[in-house]
Amino acid sequence: MNLESIYRTSKEQRLEHRYITNKHIEPILNDLESIFEIDVLGRSVMDKSIYSIKVGSGKTKILMWSQMHGNESTTTKALFDMLNWLKSDAADTRQVKNNFTFYILPILNPDGAALYTRENANKVDLNRDAVNLSQPESKLLRQAFDEFQPDFCYNMHDQRTIFGLETVNGVKPATLSFLAPAYNDDRTINSCRQTAINLIVAMNKSLQRYIPNQVGRFDDSFNINCVGDSFQALGVPTILFEAGHYKDDYERERTREFVFFALLSGFNAINENVLVVNKNDEYFNIPQNKAIFYDIVYRNVNINYENKEKRAIFASQYKEVLFEDFVVFDAFIKEINNSELIQGHIEYDCEGQFFVGKNGLKFPKTDTEATFVIEPNRKFVNGVEV
Ligand SMILES: [Zn+2]
Repeated sequence: MNLESIYRTSKEQRLEHRYITNKHIEPILNDLESIFEIDVLGRSVMDKSIYSIKVGSGKTKILMWSQMHGNESTTTKALFDMLNWLKSDAADTRQVKNNFTFYILPILNPDGAALYTRENANKVDLNRDAVNLSQPESKLLRQAFDEFQPDFCYNMHDQRTIFGLETVNGVKPATLSFLAPAYNDDRTINSCRQTAINLIVAMNKSLQRYIPNQVGRFDDSFNINCVGDSFQALGVPTILFEAGHYKDDYERERTREFVFFALLSGFNAINENVLVVNKNDEYFNIPQNKAIFYDIVYRNVNINYENKEKRAIFASQYKEVLFEDFVVFDAFIKEINNSELIQGHIEYDCEGQFFVGKNGLKFPKTDTEATFVIEPNRKFVNGVEV
């Protein structure tokens, strides 16, 4: 299976960047061929449609949902790439459609998607509402789960750029992270969780060819209020996908491609029935996700704080801000310390020169805009050197 060439012909060109809402997916849903069964599963707090797509006629049923956190759109893009791939009548695609039935909820939280927020319109984190089922979106997901009776659940998210991995080859961004959620406090591995673990191992194996050392394992502390933990506890192998940062890819267009690779490799692994043998060692060897990155780090800066000169390191972090129909990245000074351990996706060596901020400020101040000069003449605007 040449994943790269499959992706090139499958990519949904009408979806790009970070802001993906019902408005963006509706024209695509309208164009889908008759093999795709499109429905409105129900309505959000603000009365937006929550769409479902059913495709395939196989006995292995996979329930997949994305954007339960409204501002996490990367996996939605990958799901539409997957739908394009499923249009093909090639032998391998036909086999997947014969073996699987997919039930896909591409934007579970359309209000949050429109507002570009994690939570829904009532400011509830839907991924902490699995027990209370206090929100219409949570109820609909649970209803889909109960009616469809899936064999697998894919709980699809984005994670922030801060997540990285300590690997034998140094610190790397966590471009994709996975979790086979726990179903109890002891984090026991039963056959259900084992199946999820083995599927992650298979996807990781394939991804290592494309993003070596950039696949992570998410923290598995148990919380029954999280949907993944809750569905795993109900006996359905569930996998958490966390799409993360790839170098210079703030639009997450490269990461989208790797999510697509993971999806296809996973179907392949299920088809080949490689999920029976215990793969725990391989799973726990996947490096654990850690909050170790800043977006931009500036080293060897001279600052003048309370009339004392000293050498410092500081960082900038982007805030994602919805501006008209576009997500823009506004850099703010975030952390000032002298730790050599901090890592940046972009790094600058300021070579012992002095920092001059707005109004002549001689030191970087947390939560101010990252626009400044490094003397004599290096200008930084919105975090980066210009
Ligand atoms: Zn999320």
